[in-house]
Amino acid sequence: MTVQGIDVSVQPSGNGCVECDATGNWWLHLRRCAQCGHIGCCDDSLSRHATAHAAATGHPIIQSFEPGEDWFWDYATSDYIDGPPLAEATSHPVTQTTPGPEERVPANWQVLLQENHDR
Ligand SMILES: [Zn+2]
Ligand SMILES: [Zn+2]
Repeated sequence: MTVQGIDVSVQPSGNGCVECDATGNWWLHLRRCAQCGHIGCCDDSLSRHATAHAAATGHPIIQSFEPGEDWFWDYATSDYIDGPPLAEATSHPVTQTTPGPEERVPANWQVLLQENHDR
């Protein structure tokens, strides 16, 4: 099965959002670029790095990097699609908290996300 924007041979970049890890931030959920393996934070996170990565690179498809989730999202059509199994690992470790990473999540994270959502 070949889908443009999906490379099943590429491993994920790590277990955390690339940009948030670089700046010491935290995230709600993680998304994986299906083309290059970039891990970014979801649109409900404060920084929305997965969508920013897609916009910056033109890589059109992400897959959820949450344990138990295997859906793909196509930015080109703004719709869910079916895709082939990607290279392991297909999610962050189940021991990793959501939101995460645990040591960087502030006590008022729910308030912060709600404010971000309302903005
Ligand atoms: Zn991020
Ligand atoms: Zn990418």
